[in-house]
Amino acid sequence: MANSSTGKRLHQELIIQALRRESVLTRQELSRRLGISMPTTLQCTNALLEKNIIVECGTQISTGGRKPKELCLNSRTGFSIGIDIALHHVEIVLTDFLSNILHHTKLNIPFQDSVIWYKALEEGLSDFLHEYHIDRKQIICAGISFPGIIDEENDIIVRSHIFQLEHVSLDRFHKAIPFPMTVSNDANCASYSEISSEHPRYLYLSLNESVGGGLIYQGKIFKGTTMQAGEFGHIILHPGGRQCYCGKKGCVDPYLSPLALRKKGQTMEDFFGLVEQGDETAREKWDAYLEDLAILTTNLHMALNEIIIIGGETGNYIEPYMEILRQKAGKYDLFARDVDYLFPTVRKNFAFSLGASMLALQKYENLVLEKAP
Ligand SMILES: [Zn+2]
Repeated sequence: MANSSTGKRLHQELIIQALRRESVLTRQELSRRLGISMPTTLQCTNALLEKNIIVECGTQISTGGRKPKELCLNSRTGFSIGIDIALHHVEIVLTDFLSNILHHTKLNIPFQDSVIWYKALEEGLSDFLHEYHIDRKQIICAGISFPGIIDEENDIIVRSHIFQLEHVSLDRFHKAIPFPMTVSNDANCASYSEISSEHPRYLYLSLNESVGGGLIYQGKIFKGTTMQAGEFGHIILHPGGRQCYCGKKGCVDPYLSPLALRKKGQTMEDFFGLVEQGDETAREKWDAYLEDLAILTTNLHMALNEIIIIGGETGNYIEPYMEILRQKAGKYDLFARDVDYLFPTVRKNFAFSLGASMLALQKYENLVLEKAP
């Protein structure tokens, strides 16, 4: 049986989790939501206030009697770092306890699994913290976004197509980054960056050079048996169609990667500029792309019946075309009265690094309780 101090610690952890989920709650609401008695809730919230982990942030409108005080997490109780390892660079963000980005930087160090590269990462991170006068003791954790299949339990990168890697230990990352750390698949990081009290469950489509995605269920990433859930890029869309880098023909990837839209040397901005100017080839390409996207999203919705957030490089440009997409999806979905389940991304920048920082916090946020009162 848990003794009273582990019980108190557990209750404090639950309060932190509830405030992260719902942003603002009164003591009475916390007591009801968590099924903790009012005296215990009072004791725990007082301890958290004393440690400066939570703060009083307002007063609820009362129907009579004393107005209940609202509580929320103290954004400055500690920081988290997010690191996105991409093909040509590394992006680092520093976020507060509420996952607001405070500072960011980009290191031009293309990844290679070598001692030199890990040293460059260690130094780059150290310079970044030094530049913004960040006290290392204030950093709770760090999260890495990596393009590959990660087995966190066994601390290995199982496979990374983009870096041509198989079975790489995460030891060198742990040595380079001297904080409690998580390493997660990049698409899962981007997926997680969209989480909010409004959207705690959804599918995320990452329309980047390699198409992927993630499933967020009850505030957590659904990984599947072999950690490959959300590989939407390799669902067959057109049997026998375009060659996919995975070896199959007709996968979603060669149809919904931004490479299917823009020519070599063209940016997405160039491409959408042409669409807006009425360029016939660009318009035809975009129309075919939206048609394929409508087929994929309606199929995904049919399977999981959850909202779908469209992100990645194409996702950054899709907002003005959402109505057209919904109309196209309507042709393939005769079950839904309205195609009200498709949403554009709200994270146009830093999705990978921010998501990595948020995932690290999800795992390690309770370490703030070890702070001295
Ligand atoms: Zn494929």
